[in-house]
Amino acid sequence: METISFARGVPAPECLPEEELADCARTVIAREGKSLLSYGPSAGHTPLRALIAEWFGVHPYRVLLTNGSLQGLWLLAKRYGRGYGVVVEWPSYDRALKVLLESGASLLAVVVDDEGMNIDDLDSVLMGQARPGFAYTIPTFQNPTGRTMPHERRSRLVQSLGRREVMIVEDDPYALIRFDGEPVSSIFDYAGKNSIYMSSFSKTIAPGLRVGFMILPESAADDLAEDASATYITPSLVSQAIVHEFISRGSFEPNLRRTNELLRLRRDAMLAALEKHFSGAKWTRPEGGYFVWLEAPLGTNFNEVLARAEGVTAVSGSEFSAAASAVRLAYSYAAPDEIEAGVERLAAAM
Ligand code: PMP
Repeated sequence: METISFARGVPAPECLPEEELADCARTVIAREGKSLLSYGPSAGHTPLRALIAEWFGVHPYRVLLTNGSLQGLWLLAKRYGRGYGVVVEWPSYDRALKVLLESGASLLAVVVDDEGMNIDDLDSVLMGQARPGFAYTIPTFQNPTGRTMPHERRSRLVQSLGRREVMIVEDDPYALIRFDGEPVSSIFDYAGKNSIYMSSFSKTIAPGLRVGFMILPESAADDLAEDASATYITPSLVSQAIVHEFISRGSFEPNLRRTNELLRLRRDAMLAALEKHFSGAKWTRPEGGYFVWLEAPLGTNFNEVLARAEGVTAVSGSEFSAAASAVRLAYSYAAPDEIEAGVERLAAAM
């Protein structure tokens, strides 16, 4: 029996536009190979910085390109988190929490409810604390819960942290992976200089390119470019030029529509299968992104369920420091008919 994976947040192979990317790679190396294949600016490929700056209406100097966005978080954590508390959602993306802890930050955990970070809990966590290094949030289609913070909660978060002069780091790789509903403005749109926006092309083009970016306040741009230079000299300019070529050719939007349609079918298959096999449990119904968060009645232990389950994998809530009665189900990878079979196998192990 082939194992069906709901474990990793990776796109299905058919989402990856490999032929077009091969052509972009050939084009950019033929055209700019001498500079792309050497060391270059530590902040990344200048034309891609300019293009992203235009998207966000900022000066290109504020755009730092990294080898995936997780590396951007690592740079931030080392400079602004070490020796400080960092506000995080609870539960949150396991790798991000690990990066923060390994960089020497301590975690100030704020409970996530149906609308994201709970502001009353945030206020009580921060009471009597020294000013945190920053606050880390994934407001749209959160990893692991799939939840999206509505507008009102975002603005309360901005107010609450702004009052305390705490920088908000908004990790937003899933915002464009939207299948239905209306987009919500990013925190960056209203927190302005009090926030850092972080995203990547991992979900919108291909994760293997490892192209991430941050929009930084002017005061941080030089410092972080210097840290980048000290860490890896230059990020992967070839990958960044491929992304730039892909966007400049007009391939970005049509590819996004195509992949979102492939992923929408998977989200729909996951929700339909849960409806069929998991009465008595509750789960999130995301309008996009990669994840559904399933909460079974208390007493369920998904560490045990997953150990028992045959032919299906997922990640227990305990990996995200949540209760083991919850589980993260990534619908991004498996084919729609496999998703139905995988959920059935999971239900059989309950
Ligand atoms: N942030 C979040 C919330 C993620 O889910 C992921 C990928 N799973 C990342 C960052 C890392 O992405 P990248 O490939 O850009 O490093």
